[in-house]
Amino acid sequence: MSQQTDHEYELATLAIRTGHSRSFEGEHSEPVFLTSSFVYENAEEAAAKFSGNTPGNIYSRFTNPTVSVFEKRLAALDGAERAVATSSGMGAILAVVLAFLKTGDHVVCSRDMFGSSVSLFDKYVRKFGIDIDFVNLVDLDAWKQAIQPERTKLLFLESPSNPLSAIADISALAELAHANGALLVVDNSFCTPALQRPLTLGADLAVYSATKYIDGQGRALGGAVVGSHQLLEEVFGVVRTLGPSLSPFNAWIFLKGLETLKIRMKAHCENAQKLAEWLEQHPNVNKVYYAGLPQHQGYELAKAQQTGFGGIVAFEVKGERTGAWKVIDSTQFISITGNLGDVKSTITHPATTTHGKLSPEAKAEAGITEGLIRLSVGLEDIDDIIADLKRGLDQL
Ligand SMILES: *Cc1c(COP(=O)(O)O)cnc(C)c1O
Repeated sequence: MSQQTDHEYELATLAIRTGHSRSFEGEHSEPVFLTSSFVYENAEEAAAKFSGNTPGNIYSRFTNPTVSVFEKRLAALDGAERAVATSSGMGAILAVVLAFLKTGDHVVCSRDMFGSSVSLFDKYVRKFGIDIDFVNLVDLDAWKQAIQPERTKLLFLESPSNPLSAIADISALAELAHANGALLVVDNSFCTPALQRPLTLGADLAVYSATKYIDGQGRALGGAVVGSHQLLEEVFGVVRTLGPSLSPFNAWIFLKGLETLKIRMKAHCENAQKLAEWLEQHPNVNKVYYAGLPQHQGYELAKAQQTGFGGIVAFEVKGERTGAWKVIDSTQFISITGNLGDVKSTITHPATTTHGKLSPEAKAEAGITEGLIRLSVGLEDIDDIIADLKRGLDQL
C-alpha cells in the first residue's frame, strides 16, 4: 500500500497494511533493520545520497527503513502528510519546541498535563528566554486572555486531561491559535488516532508517547510528531541533527502495536465505561471522572471529537489518603504503577506519585485530592477488575 490506490482505506486496514514494501526476500511481516549505517555501490552513489539529490538511507539517526514504516503508518492513521518518530514522548515534545520556538517567544499550555511535560516547559524551556503561561484546559476565555499578540507562537494541550478526563474544545482552540499566527499542538497519547484525530479538528501537530497505547503492552519507549510536510521537515531537521531518534527495534514493536490498535482501544473503552458506571453506584465512591458519563464536563465535547471515551478512569473514594491507599493495597492483580495505556490494568494515587511534586495549591486547582485514584483500565476481564477494586472499597 505504498502506491496510490483508488480507494480510501479505513483505519483498521491502514493500521495493518500501510508503509511496508516487501524486500527481495518476500517477507510477510515487516523486517527489523538493526543497522546504524547504510552502504553504497560506489563513491558516486555515496556522493549523490549525501548531497540529498538522491533519496535513500545514510544513517539511522536520520532515517531507518523500519522506523519509516512506523512513521508512514502512523501518519496515515492520523490523516497527516507525515510523521517523524522520536526516542520517547518527551523527545517528541522537545523536538516540537526546538523546531518552532526561539528566545523571546511565548507559549500557552494547559495546566493539567503529564508531569514531565509541565517540567519541560516550566523548567527547561523557560531557561532559553521563552515565556510560558499555564491555563485551565477547558476555559476558552483563559486561553484568549493568555495570548500575547505577535509573541505567542504555540498553544500546547492534552485532551482528555490526566487524570480527570477534562476535554478541550480542540476546534475552538485551533481557530484561536490561527487567528493569532500560532500553532496548536495536541498531545494525543491518551486517545491515539483510533479515538481522536487532532489534525482533522484543526490542530497543526499531534504528538505521541508511543510508550502508552501505541505499544499497548508496556514494552518500549518511543514517540512521534505528526503533521504537514512543511512543519514536519522542521521537526525532522531537529531529530536527525540533535539525536532523539527512535530505535528500529522499538519502531517494530510499535508497528505490531498499531496492527491491533483499533480493537484494543475499543476494548479499553468498553471496560472503562463498565467500570466507571459500576464505581458511580458504589457507596464509598464520592465522585467518578470519566468523559463517558453523561454528567461529566466533557461528555458532549468528547462525543463530538472522539470515537470513544478512552481507557483512563479516575475516582475519589471516602477516607482521603488512607481510603485511597487501602483500595490500592487491597488489589491482587492490578499493577501499582504510574504507567498507563497497557493491556495490564494499572492503579496509582496521583497526589503522592504522578502529581506528588505539585504544591498543595496547585493540586487543589488541578482537582488532585487525597482520595483520588487513577486507573488505566486494561483488558483483563471486567468482572475481575471490578472484584479487585471492590475488595478494598467495601472495607472503607
Ligand atoms: C507518558 C506521557 C508522555 C511522555 O512520554 P514518554 O514516552 O514517557 O517520554 C507525554 N504525554 C503524555 C500524555 C503521557 O502520558
